[in-house]
This record gives sequence, C-alpha cells and structure tokens, in this order.
Amino acid sequence: MMSVIKKREIDKYLVNKKSFIDETEINKKLAANKKNDLIRLNEILKKSLAIETLSPDETAFLLNISNKDYWQKIFETASAVKKKVYNNRIVTFAPLYCSNLCVNNCMYCGFRNSNEAVVRKRLRLEEIRKEVLWLVGKLGHKRLISVYGEHPSTGIDYICESLRTIYSATVKTKKGYIGIRRVNVNAAPMSISDLKKLHKAGIGTYQVFQETYHPQMYSKVHPASTIKGNYLWRLYCMHRAMEAGIDDVGIGVLFGLYDWKFEVMGILYHAIELEKRFGIGPHTVSFPRLKPAFNTPFSKGTKYQVSDDDLKKLVAVIRLAVPYTGMILTAREPEDVRSKLWQVGITQMDAGTKIGIGDYSDEHDLRSSDKEQFLIGDTRSLDEVIGDLAGRGMITSFCTAGYRCGRTGKNIMQLLRTGQEGKFCKLNAILTFKEWLDDFACARTKSLGKKLIKKEIEEVKKIFPKSIYGKFLQYYAETANGKKDLYF
Ligand code: SAM
Ligand code: SF4
Repeated sequence: MMSVIKKREIDKYLVNKKSFIDETEINKKLAANKKNDLIRLNEILKKSLAIETLSPDETAFLLNISNKDYWQKIFETASAVKKKVYNNRIVTFAPLYCSNLCVNNCMYCGFRNSNEAVVRKRLRLEEIRKEVLWLVGKLGHKRLISVYGEHPSTGIDYICESLRTIYSATVKTKKGYIGIRRVNVNAAPMSISDLKKLHKAGIGTYQVFQETYHPQMYSKVHPASTIKGNYLWRLYCMHRAMEAGIDDVGIGVLFGLYDWKFEVMGILYHAIELEKRFGIGPHTVSFPRLKPAFNTPFSKGTKYQVSDDDLKKLVAVIRLAVPYTGMILTAREPEDVRSKLWQVGITQMDAGTKIGIGDYSDEHDLRSSDKEQFLIGDTRSLDEVIGDLAGRGMITSFCTAGYRCGRTGKNIMQLLRTGQEGKFCKLNAILTFKEWLDDFACARTKSLGKKLIKKEIEEVKKIFPKSIYGKFLQYYAETANGKKDLYF
C-alpha cells in the first residue's frame, strides 16, 4: 500500500522554489487600476476578443470597474469570447467520489480528518465498477472526474487502479459497447514519479485547486501540521504534472475563503506562470463557492462569501483574462445560478451529480449527507439539464476526442486561440449529442435536441469544405444507425 507523500520528499523538491504569487504586487495592481476609463476598457476587451491573455494590470482594471454599463459591456464581450472559442457547446461530466478518507484537516471540508460525524468509506474496485456501470448504462455519461481525499489507502496505486477499472467497465448495447472515454482526476498534489504513473494510467485532466492564493489565509484554513498546510507544494503541483507529461491541468480557487478580486489575480498569475514556463496555460479553471458541509461550522459562512452578482463578475473577468481556458461550473451551484452563468463563459458542467461515496448505484440511498463533502445546489437529472440547455440553444457535448487524437497541451492551446479546435468540436459535439439522445433522452429532450441538431448541421454545411461535410454526414448516418464513438 502506498503511503501519502513524505515530508523529506516535499522539502527536497521545494529547495530553491519561490512563490510566483506576490501578495504585495497583487495588492499594488488592484490599488493602481481603479479608474473607470472607457477607452482603456475598449482596448482591453479588444485584446480578449483576439484571444490574448490579459496582463495583471488589465485584469485588475476590469475587477475594479464600478460603472454598471461598463459591466454590461464586459458581460457581452465575455459571452462573445466564449462563443468565438467554444461556440454554443457545454461539455458534460459526472464526478465520481471514490473515497472520503483524508489525513488533512481543511477547515471548510466535510471530509476533514477531525470530522468524526462523517461515515468514512473507500470504494473497492468492484464498487467503483458498479458505480461506473450505472453512470454509463443508466445515464449515458462518457466523461468522469474521479475524486479522492488524501490518505495512505488511496495513494497512487489505488488511483491508477481505479482509473483502469473505470476505463474497463463497459455496457453492451445492440450496436456495440459504451463506456467512459475520459477520466479526469481531482486528487492531492503528487510527486513527479507518481504523476508519471497517473499519466501512464490514462488520466485526462489533472485537477488541483489552490483553494486560496493568499498565503496567510491559506495557513489559517490548512493547519501547518498537515501535508496540505504546505502552500508551495500545492502551488507547484501543476509544474510537476507538466514535467511528468500531463499537459492538461485544471486550476481553481475555493471562493469564499478570501477576497475574490485577489483570488482572480492569483488565477491569472498562475496561468501566466504556466504559459511562461511550459508554453501551456491551464486547460480548465474552476471556481467552486464555499457550501455548507456536514458538521463543519466554518463552511456555514465567512466574511468573504461571494454574492451571485460578484460570482457573475468574476466568471466574466476570468473568461476575458484567460480567454482560451475551459471554465467549469459544478452542481454546487443551484439551477438559477448555473443557467445565468453559462452565458458569460462557462464551458463545462456536471449533471445528474451525486457526491456521496457509492451513491450513484445505491438507489435506496438518494442523498447521504453523512458521506458527502458538501451540499450540492443543482439536483436535476442529466436529462433535465440537457433538455434545459437544448431549449436555450446550447448543445451538450460528450466529446472526448481531443486527448485521444493528441489535441492536448500546446496543440490544443494553439487550436483554441485560433478558433480551429472549435471546428473539430462542433462536429464531435453533434455526433456525441446524437448518440446520447438516441440512447438516453426522454421524448421532450429528444425533440428539443432534434431541432437543435438540424440547425447545427446547417451551420456545418456552411463552415466546412464539401469533403469534411460529406464525411460528417456519413458519420452522422452511422451514428443514427447505432454505431458508437465516431469522431474527428
Ligand atoms: N483532497 C483533494 C484536495 O484537497 O485537493 C481533492 C478532493 S476535494 C474532495 C475537491 C475540492 O472540493 C477541494 O479542492 C475544495 O476546493 C472543494 N471543497 C472542499 N470543501 C468544500 C465546501 N465546503 N464547499 C465547496 N467546495 C468544497
Ligand atoms: Fe481532505 Fe481535500 Fe477535504 Fe482537504 S479538501 S479535507 S484535503 S478531501
């Protein structure tokens, strides 16, 4: 059994490493860029529309806007940037919580070690398989994020085994097998050698949130005696991932721990650092807001709680500051918040979500808050979410082709910046949407989806050369006939 990372290994790695988050500099930038200036605003928005990363000064300027009309302009441009890079697609996925055992004591988390009220559970591999068969066979998911606490019993070997189990669990249909095609991982920061193993096991995106970029607040909520108490080890985990060959990385902040403007600047500095060092920014950015967790008083509210209005502002500013990045909004947020925010930049949403360990396949135990990390806000089914999005002209994509065709890291960054990735994605979104509608949708969602697909195909005809359009029509006909997993 692998143990959690050793302190001496961490210390060795961190020799000569300095933080690339300079608190004084961030505060200075926020203080120096307070003037609402329309000419400057227009220049900055133009830069975002050209899919260029903004500078810290430009981002601080946006964060400080107080004029309502200027914010409207920001929202509209964020929406235009999202459309330019990702068009009307929302990628969907489900989280799979594999274990809630954890050695750390993050004050906000229901899984923290000192929380004696939580029922601890680590899924055995056959239980993971059961969950996956349910997610694939009953809901039609194609993409998962597997989630783990940090614990000796869920070290790298367990994580790699769980990935292999997920990929190998398939369900037979009339015309072939269906299964999970991409597994992202949210787990504790690891060493380069462990990350190499994760890469080999077929990880999609490696996701770790810094929680807060503010060093003092970080120390306050993560006791120094725990592994997670090491700010710098966490800050550098995406560097290690890149060095280990994982070039799709997901960063994020737990909003509500510290001032949201400071945190957005932290995300930007992290993105710039990765771009500078590796030529690749974050594949995704997440912005969970602190939610009440079982028997966790800290999670009930802090003075940095982010309002719905400020959440919309920060989503729009991140969309403009790091215009190429994917942006994930999870079911932590209720339906009304989610349906407002996708317009200003969201590209990925989970749906049909359950976060209790083993809850998907346990049909009698619909919500088991004593095994959950926090309470979720959007409890709609996958079908309801997809139907809602389709009614608003948004296509749900189950596409996982990118990483299987080598469109990851630098390759995808370039394609995203130039709008090329969007083209492949459009075709794959239609094919995977059709596949899901035929296999899983209720009559209402099917009919909404059918209308949307008709419109999408007309666009494909306009955008693509005849040869690609012809091949697409052939794939579409085969998909309609039950063939699985056709992609460009
Ligand atoms: N143990 C790993 C770690 O800490 O990186 C990953 C798993 S943790 C289950 C995933 C994320 O959930 C954390 O990074 C944190 O941002 C978020 N989280 C923890 N407590 C939360 C709460 N009360 N409300 C919302 N999100 C929370
Ligand atoms: Fe453990 Fe992660 Fe929860 Fe912290 S956030 S207590 S590390 S599961």
